[in-house]
Amino acid sequence: MKTSTVAWHELKSRLARIYDFHSAAGLLIWDQQTNMPPGGVPARAEALATLSTVAHEHLVDDETRCLLDTIGDDFDATTEDAALVRLVRRDYERATKLPVRLVADFSRATTLAEPAWVAARARSDWAAFAPHLERILTLQQEAAEYIGYTTHPYDALLDTFEPGATKLELETVFDELKTPLIALVARINDAQTSAENEKRDAPLYGDFDEAKQEAFGREIVERFGYDFRRGRQDRAVHPFCISFGNGDVRITTRFDREWLSPALFGTLHESGHALYEQGIDSKYARTPAANGCSMGVHESQSRLWENIVGRSLPFWQFFYPRLQAAFPEHFSGIELARFYRAINTVERTPIRVEADEVTYNLHVLVRFEIEVALFENRLKVADLPAAWNEKMRDYLGITPATDAEGALQDIHWANGSFAYFPTYTVGNVLAVQLYDTALATHPSITDEITRGEFATLHGWLAENIYRHGKRYEPAPLIERATGKPLNTAPYLRYLHTKFGELYDLKTTTLTG
Ligand code: ZN
Repeated sequence: MKTSTVAWHELKSRLARIYDFHSAAGLLIWDQQTNMPPGGVPARAEALATLSTVAHEHLVDDETRCLLDTIGDDFDATTEDAALVRLVRRDYERATKLPVRLVADFSRATTLAEPAWVAARARSDWAAFAPHLERILTLQQEAAEYIGYTTHPYDALLDTFEPGATKLELETVFDELKTPLIALVARINDAQTSAENEKRDAPLYGDFDEAKQEAFGREIVERFGYDFRRGRQDRAVHPFCISFGNGDVRITTRFDREWLSPALFGTLHESGHALYEQGIDSKYARTPAANGCSMGVHESQSRLWENIVGRSLPFWQFFYPRLQAAFPEHFSGIELARFYRAINTVERTPIRVEADEVTYNLHVLVRFEIEVALFENRLKVADLPAAWNEKMRDYLGITPATDAEGALQDIHWANGSFAYFPTYTVGNVLAVQLYDTALATHPSITDEITRGEFATLHGWLAENIYRHGKRYEPAPLIERATGKPLNTAPYLRYLHTKFGELYDLKTTTLTG
């Protein structure tokens, strides 16, 4: 009979092996997205399948259960070890609750659905994608029943991305945002049409040497605190951040020679994710706690650096002269105020990934309401595009010209990621709540930003968010950091103040 101390050591070395398999798989994925020649796809798919199978087998092995049983609950619930055991139990239970048959069916269904979605989007042909989505939805509804939930099947899937969150809580968040955001977007739209026919975002288009774009972005993220001795930046078509432990956290960027925004704000965004991962305490190395807390909390970090810092006036008071020096032929005749308006252009567009700070959450709301309706069998897959277009009209005042610009635009449903979208809004809301708390504690942060200094803000985030990794679930982490649960009021205030000034809206109604 093992003692619980021996079992604990054995469990930790098992967890380290599982982490290493995932890490190796991650490196293959990074390579696939950055360097691999197209001919590598079939062999790489096999290698990734092998590694994920081995990692899965290590987790669901009977030995994991035996070790967890031996360790028991004999922990002070407030300790880090107790947090680790909770994480392993959770992973183990979720992994063993699903029948092998269901996991295999899901993998097959999504493998078929992704290329079908690419083809369907290219032809804007919803009917071609619909059978795949129906299949995936059925399997995910089945999975929710196996995983289990207290009040709503959607919660079972939401828990994968945002542990502890519920559909009901998200509905409250969206209820608080919906009316004020629809009203704000409408008022901005009215203000814009009455203004002279100015193309607000024109300064962001021109001819921008890629090496200069790269050097400019690099200077910013180094000043943020991204450590290139523990990271690197490469090019990828779909930018992402990936971590192999806090000593190796990589970001990727996409450059557009004629449009400044994708590389500039994409780099700021991914560096926000990377700062988080680089800041996780080394004591969690090679454990399930060695990553960020949830998708929503992670997104709060990318949004904070990209939008709240990176699209603010104090930030550009420091960096705009540098941008002008890098591209003098383009920016010398454009004053800071004009550039600041350009990077904060609000526009009712059909595409979520191009959406600005004000309209973004309305795009998410469309998807959230549709997902819930699908899960409650109130909406048929065949009727989804009609429901989509109606909501786009109601919330954003536009109708997508085609389904490619509408219900077919995102890959998420094709790869089975239901309940992922709302985490974007959690991130947006939380970003402001965290920033406001940091600012209340250290009012010098704004002045520091005008000098291109970020150490106080970075330090506050590292202390209150980064270092904890996955030790706390989102709700207790947010409560510890800000003294409150997730709260939409600071976010709405932020948007009304910032965009009220930018669009010269006379009376700004504060709601929420
Ligand atoms: Zn992100």
